[in-house]
Amino acid sequence: MKVTDLWSAAQKPTVSFELFPPRSPKGAEKLEKAIDALADLRPDFVSVTFGAGGSTREGSRQLVEKLKKEKMLEVVAYFAGYGLGPEDITAVLDSYQTLPIENVLVVRGDVPKELEDFKPHPRSFAHASDLIEFIRPRYPFCLGTAGYPEGHIDCESKDKDLEYLRLKVENGAEYIISNYFYDNRYFFDFVQRCRALGIGVPILAGVMPIYSVKMMKMLAGMCGATITDEVRNGIASLPQDDKESLVNFGIEFAASQCTELLRAGVAGLHFYTMDLSESTVGIVNRLRDDGLL
Ligand SMILES: Cc1cc2nc3c(=O)[nH]c(=O)nc-3n(C[C@H](O)[C@H](O)[C@H](O)COP(=O)(O)OP(=O)(O)OC[C@H]3O[C@@H](n4cnc5c(N)ncnc54)[C@H](O)[C@@H]3O)c2cc1C
Repeated sequence: MKVTDLWSAAQKPTVSFELFPPRSPKGAEKLEKAIDALADLRPDFVSVTFGAGGSTREGSRQLVEKLKKEKMLEVVAYFAGYGLGPEDITAVLDSYQTLPIENVLVVRGDVPKELEDFKPHPRSFAHASDLIEFIRPRYPFCLGTAGYPEGHIDCESKDKDLEYLRLKVENGAEYIISNYFYDNRYFFDFVQRCRALGIGVPILAGVMPIYSVKMMKMLAGMCGATITDEVRNGIASLPQDDKESLVNFGIEFAASQCTELLRAGVAGLHFYTMDLSESTVGIVNRLRDDGLL
């Protein structure tokens, strides 16, 4: 099924979960538990990340296959094209097509730190818009793309960033999954500016529960999400080094963010699970108990 069918039917907002391929036996064990708990929530789809430069190529394909064939879940396979030449790109996408996968979200990706001495292919593509332009006429996938409510961390300006987002949609992206944010005003403003620019495709809100202070700071630094005073002060009011209180705060905070997003009519909530399930299960169950999902 193409995920865009979910939004054209528009019965209710979608719930989806992002997973990444494990990097160690411990990570595989953690992922296995997360998949079982998350699958019980009956998500509309799950997504699988792809390491830029092809660094998780095999692991991503295996996870996509497992989720699709063993767990019978609808899957959006991400594809990060950074540094890959046309033949590498088609090799990955051909393998997804034979599974068969119908949904691919295309991102540029970043310089892969885990691949030492990685040299981009001379015919690699500079931007996600170029990748989408290359992929669109060659594959029947339902294509998605990434959007940044606060602007991409390296963007010249938020306006330029949005123009490039429009180009990605003009080149064939049929929906947008947003980066996460800790203040809904960033998202509401982003959606409004997208619509004003003529970007009409569904926009899903990315939700990142707070799992640990260290992870929160690291990820926010990498992707340019503002850690708001509300989050900072909320964490400061918790007993020090109390992991459970922090996770519960993260669940409360995200549940109230999601409540406002759902009341405002968001097309879907996309959870960045980090291969963990406790927080996402807590948030989704809360929203369902409240009759919002
Ligand atoms: C939902 C989501 C999923 C993700 N999944 C993955 C993943 O699986 N693997 C991974 O490695 N990373 C992933 N990322 C991270 C992503 O790869 C990085 O944020 C990356 O830095 C940018 O990717 P992009 O596709 O947004 O790039 P682009 O859209 O190419 O944008 C990158 C920068 O270039 C600028 N730009 C865009 N187009 C042009 C143009 N035509 N001319 C000039 N400038 C331009 C933009 O303003 C921006 O600053 C994901 C991000 C999100 C939000």
